[in-house]
Amino acid sequence: DVAGLPLFAAIRACNRDPARPFLETPEGRRMSYDDLFSATGRFANTLRDLGVAKGDRVAVQAQKSPEVVILLLACARIGAIFLPLNTAYTVAELDYFLGDAEPSLLVCDSAAREALAPVATRHGVSAIETLDAGGTGSLSDRAARFEADFNDADLGPDDLAAILYTSGTTGRSKGAMLSHANLVTNAQTLVDYWRFTGDDVLLHALPTFHTHGLFVATNTLLLAGGSMIFMEKFDADAIMAHMPRATTMMGVPTFYTRLLQHPGLTREASAHMRLFVSGSAPLLAETHRAFEAKTGHAILERYGMTETNMNTSNPYDGDRIPGTVGFPLPGVELRILEPETGAPCAVEEIGIIEVRGPNVFKGYWRNPGKTAEELRADGFFITGDLGKIDDRGYVHIVGRGKDLIITGGYNVYPKEIETEIDALDGVVESAVFGVAHPDFGEAVTAAVVLHEGATLDEASITGALADKLARFKQPKHVAIVQELPRNTMGKVQKNVLRETYADLFR
Ligand code: ATP
Ligand code: MG
Repeated sequence: DVAGLPLFAAIRACNRDPARPFLETPEGRRMSYDDLFSATGRFANTLRDLGVAKGDRVAVQAQKSPEVVILLLACARIGAIFLPLNTAYTVAELDYFLGDAEPSLLVCDSAAREALAPVATRHGVSAIETLDAGGTGSLSDRAARFEADFNDADLGPDDLAAILYTSGTTGRSKGAMLSHANLVTNAQTLVDYWRFTGDDVLLHALPTFHTHGLFVATNTLLLAGGSMIFMEKFDADAIMAHMPRATTMMGVPTFYTRLLQHPGLTREASAHMRLFVSGSAPLLAETHRAFEAKTGHAILERYGMTETNMNTSNPYDGDRIPGTVGFPLPGVELRILEPETGAPCAVEEIGIIEVRGPNVFKGYWRNPGKTAEELRADGFFITGDLGKIDDRGYVHIVGRGKDLIITGGYNVYPKEIETEIDALDGVVESAVFGVAHPDFGEAVTAAVVLHEGATLDEASITGALADKLARFKQPKHVAIVQELPRNTMGKVQKNVLRETYADLFR
């Protein structure tokens, strides 16, 4: 049982055979757990030499590489707070993050160093280091001169291991403070629930600046003592090439839709795999069914967020039901409350999802107001997601509270309308959102992406929905678009759509 241990100690305690492989890359790099442990010691000594101390933030905006994982664990050994930043963020965006987090050290790619220097200096960052090997003077080069032995800081379970900024899908990203215990207990729960062992080989193609790739995938694998095939980004050819040796993959729904288009995806090609997991955004039931038909594997969908790690999962044994996110994980309490009254919702009744447990974060960094709004005194976190529980106990995510449309006094859940539109022949996908309207308050509006050569238009889509949906749910406008606006995690940005169409009914 590693529950009370800090992150690095927990990982080391679980690995009794350090000669085992920890990671390989398609380019041919290989590292054992022994290599990992000594590299984290060298990095920790280097960071300490640079003046990084317990509680300091170490910001990282760097290409995905094994060094990112080494740096995470080196920070954990010092008690410094790891703060990964999306590689897509521009210098202007970093201005906000660095000002908010005030890291003492910024680690970046050598190509970005010059561009980042002024903004780092402005926010009192005392050192910038580069991570990519090759360039002279990188953190990795420097670390080679230090020894591997390191005396880990004395840490309690509530000490912070990381600040992770949320994806910014509904507004400005918030810094979620995650403790060592948050990360260790959630990873341990997933090892048990998803049956991870030292024999697992994980296809790791997720970014390492987000909770999904960094914690759900990496920490779970590390606690199990398994190994990963670490790919810089998702590439269907590369995934298919390595699948015969792998046992599991964690991905976002677009991984699965792209794999489905790959001619190599067959029952035989995936015969060695035991588990495909999807999360971060809703997996279409159609994708789930198509994947199962082609490979024999039922994708296991789960639900989590930056602030809470993983909340729910479809069962390992038992029915993985398309369109649901399964059951609350062991140790996680989940309730659904009616938004107006706060009363518990009945079966099948839609309300706001709240969760409580050792997985729930410590609050938003330097934002006690926002923390107090969303983290109740009794420990429940108000996720802001709309959901319901069906009569078998499966949790369904219905969308975001902020995306609920109130039109003429009626509540409209966009997902219900999206499901009807997506089922039409010729439709790739759709997003339904509310736009200000002089009579209705908000008007139901749809943006629809069509397959090439599809003959649908606004009138035929509206016509096809007429006998399927109550009048107040029918879109007042359908826009045919080339693609939906998405953030870097592949999530549809409805606030962008609402802004784009803000004047539609004015
Ligand atoms: P922000 O909080 O900044 O608006 P975000 O909520 O998208 O951004 P994340 O923490 O990356 O930031 O994402 C968590 C959210 O992702 C959840 O609250 C939920 O809305 C959505 N999500 C995660 N998994 C699923 C899933 N399986 N099905 C549907 N939605 C999911
Ligand atoms: Mg969120």
